[in-house]
Amino acid sequence: MESSMQAKEQILKDVYGYTSFRQGQAEIIDTIIEGRDVLAIMPTSAGKSLCYQIPALMLPGITLVISPLISLMKDQVDSLRGNGIQASFLNSTLAEDEVRAIYQSLRAGATRILYVAPERLTNADFLDFIASFPVSFISVDEAHCISSWGHDFRPAYRSILGFIEALSARIGYRPRIAAFTGTATKEVQKDIVQQLNMSANHGEVVLSFDRPNLYFAVEEPRSGAEKLARIKELLGPNPEPTIIYCRTRRAVESVAAKLQKAGYNADFYHAGLEPDERSRIQDAFQYGEVDVMVATNAFGMGIDKPDVRQVIHYGISDSLEAYYQEAGRAGRDGQKSRCTLFYSGADVVDAKRRISMENDPLAASKLDAMLRYTQTAGCLRRCILEYFGEETREDCGDCSNCLDEGERIDISLESRKILACVYRIKERFGYSVGVGKVAAVLKGSTAADILSKHFDEVSTYGIMSEESEATIRQYIQVLVASGYLQVSGEYAVLELTPRGYEQFSVRAPIKIRKRPERGAAAASRGE
Ligand code: ADP
Ligand code: ZN
Repeated sequence: MESSMQAKEQILKDVYGYTSFRQGQAEIIDTIIEGRDVLAIMPTSAGKSLCYQIPALMLPGITLVISPLISLMKDQVDSLRGNGIQASFLNSTLAEDEVRAIYQSLRAGATRILYVAPERLTNADFLDFIASFPVSFISVDEAHCISSWGHDFRPAYRSILGFIEALSARIGYRPRIAAFTGTATKEVQKDIVQQLNMSANHGEVVLSFDRPNLYFAVEEPRSGAEKLARIKELLGPNPEPTIIYCRTRRAVESVAAKLQKAGYNADFYHAGLEPDERSRIQDAFQYGEVDVMVATNAFGMGIDKPDVRQVIHYGISDSLEAYYQEAGRAGRDGQKSRCTLFYSGADVVDAKRRISMENDPLAASKLDAMLRYTQTAGCLRRCILEYFGEETREDCGDCSNCLDEGERIDISLESRKILACVYRIKERFGYSVGVGKVAAVLKGSTAADILSKHFDEVSTYGIMSEESEATIRQYIQVLVASGYLQVSGEYAVLELTPRGYEQFSVRAPIKIRKRPERGAAAASRGE
């Protein structure tokens, strides 16, 4: 043990030029060297690469690194070579003679670390070839992709276990396995261990997900114009490196165009661009030629820019995992950075509808966790960490909710009226209607389609006549986001959830953050 302990510190110094290990690194390396499997949950930028590269250099034989992303592989291999370590990667972008050259260098003992895409593992020629080497160690990167509980399930990951079993049978022993991921809830952790059939004595190293240097904020600009104005405020006169995530390619292009027009050094990135163009734009951001990158979630994995000072989400993500991973691209260098989420009630209803069409209860519960984050009046950091299974801790005192001394409005009474109205409409007509209709009935609207269909005969007609329809709609959206109402089906109809039914007897207080004045003006204009 003593000699390998020294060896790993020596390698850290000689190869990487670092003086000490970071939290978790030494333990992971030791576990692998002992011959045990290990599951490592490390937030982005904790330094997981060293954790499998150093064992690869210490162990005899070959190390396979299974990695989902071609761009990631290339970067890793380039940086290893920069450190004087022979590594190669095999993926679909290589020509036949390049593959042959890699095979030769493996045979000659020159290459010690081989990165492969999971798709290759089902290739019989690859198995034949690799089984002719003493493979001592298999490292699985982005291991949450193996779990359908994760937010990034990749079917090809399911072939890893079959590959390991086939390889073990051929070489006469089972290589040790390490699985790394930057995001995993308790369920996903368990699933990874099971799906990879990790040995009973495997180690688990779970680092805290807290990123103390990140400031979290949830904001509610109510129109495209308000969003843009707020982005400009956040960017300030001398923008530091910023990523703005939008859901759709169209939004990405339009936000980027507006920022460019306003004189910002902005560019955009999404999967619809040509590969050449994508790597050009990625590099431009990486090397500081572009300040503001507007992008879909296609931008990020494989980006190793340490000094991203803020990440702005133009709308909600489908899950808190996805949100935290994207937001976590800020501040990898440990410097204070800001993560802002824009949220609007309309987005919520839209997301709910989209997810309800997928008819996937898991996706629905992930979205709900995301929505709770937008709704909580409590500490945002705590909301995230508790979701990832970390023990309840103190409020952070440093997020937009902790710092927000702003008033809360109690909408318990309004909520009861809304829930009752949804219930009564269904009772009276035998079917449910959408947000606009419910708001119109509560307002007591005399619009033709309300009267002609006899919605004025519902007992809750007009019971919120003192509120504007826009305000009623906003309250409905809050109830959707907090899980009292659900929006489902092609027509986006509103229905009570079990929690909504319960509320008739439970009568839990429902509060919202008070909106700033300009918002109230916009709401009364009917926006
Ligand atoms: P991730 O966990 O996101 O894969 P990386 O392995 O890319 O993170 O590491 C993030 C950064 O931290 C890299 O620039 C890496 O060189 C650096 N790093 C990793 N371990 C150490 C260490 N022990 N000391 C100093 N820097 C380190
Ligand atoms: Zn807080």
